[in-house]
Amino acid sequence: MTDHSLETIVAGVRCREVLADLSDYLDGALTPARVEALQAHLAECSNCARFGGHVARTLAMLRQVRAHDERDVVNSVMTRILASS
Ligand SMILES: [Zn+2]
Repeated sequence: MTDHSLETIVAGVRCREVLADLSDYLDGALTPARVEALQAHLAECSNCARFGGHVARTLAMLRQVRAHDERDVVNSVMTRILASS
């Protein structure tokens, strides 16, 4: 396995959890505290900073599109991230 960096914990959240929670985040299914934790992680995590451009840009972009399209975009971004890690 080459995805050990996804096990890095920053701000109490693993990179892997951030990826796993992205869909729920976009669905508005997470608590405000959880959203804050994810954002804190993304702000401080050097691993996520490597692909954070993707994530941050995607999140910003996704806020402007419908939920139906969000999942497709998230899935494609996650696929790309996981494939390149
Ligand atoms: Zn991270």
